[in-house]
Amino acid sequence: MIERIKQLEEQARALEPAREQITKDTITFAESHLKDIYTTKTYFDEDPGGQGFLDSPIQDTGVELEHLLQTVHREIDQSGINAGAHGHLGYIPGGGLYASALGDYLAAVTNNYAGVFFASPGAVRLENQLISWMADMVGYPDGYAGNLSSGGSIANLTAIVTARDAHDLRCEDIPKAVIYCTHQMHHCLLKAIRIAGLKEAHMREIPQDGQHRMIPDALQEQINHDRADGLKPWMVIASAGTTDVGAVDPLKEVGKIAKTAGCWYHIDAAYGGFFMLLDEMKSLFEGAAMSDSIVLDPHKGLFLPFGTGAVLVKNKQHLLDSHFYMANYLQDTHSADAELSPADLSPELTKHFRGLRMWLPLKLHGLAPFKAALAEKIELCRYFYHKIQEVPNMEVGPKPELSVCYFRYLPEHGDPNDFNQKLLQLIHKDGRVFMSSTTLDDKFLIRVAVLSFRTHLATIDLALDIIKSNLEKVIQADEVIS
Ligand SMILES: *Cc1c(COP(=O)(O)O)cnc(C)c1O
Repeated sequence: MIERIKQLEEQARALEPAREQITKDTITFAESHLKDIYTTKTYFDEDPGGQGFLDSPIQDTGVELEHLLQTVHREIDQSGINAGAHGHLGYIPGGGLYASALGDYLAAVTNNYAGVFFASPGAVRLENQLISWMADMVGYPDGYAGNLSSGGSIANLTAIVTARDAHDLRCEDIPKAVIYCTHQMHHCLLKAIRIAGLKEAHMREIPQDGQHRMIPDALQEQINHDRADGLKPWMVIASAGTTDVGAVDPLKEVGKIAKTAGCWYHIDAAYGGFFMLLDEMKSLFEGAAMSDSIVLDPHKGLFLPFGTGAVLVKNKQHLLDSHFYMANYLQDTHSADAELSPADLSPELTKHFRGLRMWLPLKLHGLAPFKAALAEKIELCRYFYHKIQEVPNMEVGPKPELSVCYFRYLPEHGDPNDFNQKLLQLIHKDGRVFMSSTTLDDKFLIRVAVLSFRTHLATIDLALDIIKSNLEKVIQADEVIS
């Protein structure tokens, strides 16, 4: 038996390889990726990558790292969206702060367990400090709790479940419960409502003003109407920066109505939340502190690599009531003087120590460059919004409140939707920048979302040039046809 154990040990030791060369190779790979990040394409309009993985199954014998890195480069980095690139102006662009990657590296190397205070008090305190920092920014008084999640969708789900339990919504109550939002609300909330078993609740899309913001009077009217019909107004969801157009609902007016009606007030600030760091934007977010729960996405507004969202709940007891469990095998993990643990505040038990990837860049760089970058994004979007209107026959949406705007070209003849789809296809083919589209009132619109920390003035000028030159191409092609 000893002989066999030793034999197995010998083989298993391959899992503790010599580190020097593979670390060097990995850093070389990362450096070569970053060296080209301002010149490489943002969108590769080619055959989807990844086929190569199918030809290379997982097997008993290992493969040289160099070969694997080549595969990653070929199969992943050369197709689809280059999400870390400066030209990413689609959807809500991702970040990818290098310091955050180092935090991830350290979190993985040490593998500290940040789920429970007992297991790593330091790691849990670090995450709680980040929660407190965000709660202060929102303006929550003491008594809140929160959690760093994998993203905004899970953070929103956590809030919905908490709201359901806080109002003790039972099966028989659900068909009478009413949820208020706008058509602009992010679809992950609809998903969350369904996952939380609430799909039978009534959804009310409250009309919006010309800037795609909820009209408070219309909300009040709808609540009155529903109450008169014997329904139970239960939850109001406002957006602080819609994904589609960057609209911020009037948080204070909506909050007052929600509170008076006895509704749970949830704010989805996944995209827009961190603009609250800017003094000049504070008034736009007035009323955020009235919410019962709010969601922010550090992997958007703090430029972190994908994988970090956050939920804050004003009354920590509600978050605990939905998520705290005691198990026999965890009996030594809870003590009276312990701090709140992430495992008691979210569905996760074992989790990535995601606090480090957020804390390291915030501490290393300080807040000043983050604020500058956020203010820069707003200015860049305004700059684009003005410049694009210098092109004749361009139609734009309302002046951007944050860093998203949209436009479309109105051709002399033909269907504008077809025209703008063709224009976007050519922009995608070019690939140096990436934009996405949306449809509002049956109009096909091209969106520009500025949030990558690598997007600067040169990127926006490049985007304008690309739009103009491809516009000419579509116009000429149309003239040939007609
Ligand atoms: C991105 C986004 C979400 C979803 O967050 P994920 O991090 O993508 O899961 C929710 N709401 C808004 C407003 C968003 O912009």
